[in-house]
Amino acid sequence: PAPLLSVDDLVVQYRRPGAEPTRAVAGVSLEVRAGEVVGLVGESGCGKSTLARAVCGLTAPKEGTIAFEGAPVGPLGVRRRDPGLTRVQMVFQDPYGSLNPRRRIGAQIADGIRAAAARGDAADGATPGDLLTRVGLSADDAARYPQEFSGGQRQRIAIARALAARPRLLVGDEPISALDASAQSQVATLMRLLAVESGAGLLFISHDLSVVRLIADRIAVMYLGRIVETGPTAEVWANPRHPYTRALLAAIPQPDGAGLLPAELPGDVPDPAAPPSGCRFHPRCPVAFDGCDREDPQLVAGGVACRLYAA
Ligand code: SF4
Ligand code: MG
Repeated sequence: PAPLLSVDDLVVQYRRPGAEPTRAVAGVSLEVRAGEVVGLVGESGCGKSTLARAVCGLTAPKEGTIAFEGAPVGPLGVRRRDPGLTRVQMVFQDPYGSLNPRRRIGAQIADGIRAAAARGDAADGATPGDLLTRVGLSADDAARYPQEFSGGQRQRIAIARALAARPRLLVGDEPISALDASAQSQVATLMRLLAVESGAGLLFISHDLSVVRLIADRIAVMYLGRIVETGPTAEVWANPRHPYTRALLAAIPQPDGAGLLPAELPGDVPDPAAPPSGCRFHPRCPVAFDGCDREDPQLVAGGVACRLYAA
């Protein structure tokens, strides 16, 4: 069967007055299958959110294609917010900004139920109260307002609202990074459980690899507008190959206090408006070698974009 989501050679560009256009997403291919959780990781500013917005139809791509269940998502759909796009639901980073403070949460969840009905999707008869129960809150909470809840609870409400629209694909853009540590893995685990249970796919975006490891079947590592490594989570974790992936894993504190690599990654993510020549990672790469500043490695079969692994 066709993958749920298929992104091919996607380029998303921003224009600023008086400046060269910035390619925030600079040629990305990615698939998400039904019932699969894909973790998209990378530092802030690497293009993860821009990719998510394009997938959700909130930003029009400059080049490349996005197909949903085998059918291309056209530019009209992108611009006019095609009701079909409610098949894709997003959970955003800020649990305080994503809910309307003046409306009871039950009414906000009912919007999602109506979106699914408008699309002609068979309703499963779930009420806002049922959905609140599924995310670990109580049906009585439907009558309350967002400000009566903590950040973690609000994120659960945002998930209930997204699920109400019966999405085929759920996209979380850093949905846990504003939460306290104890809520982070709970909310991430809940998103995985509910997405997989309903047969939807989940694209989970985070800079926190330890949480992604917990919930993702597959990892895609993004650096400066490109995916530099992808593979099954357990494999990437056991055998990270791209020097950037290794550095990211090394930055996760280990239980014994030691990282996997002794060296920290020097420098910040470069300006995506002026990406480095050759391999975009070469100015920060601890193992760069002759030619890395000239040759731009592509993501090859086997899932790594680095000249160390060129055939
Ligand atoms: Fe480092 Fe060269 Fe590989 Fe880029 S291509 S990640 S600079 S070794
Ligand atoms: Mg972001």
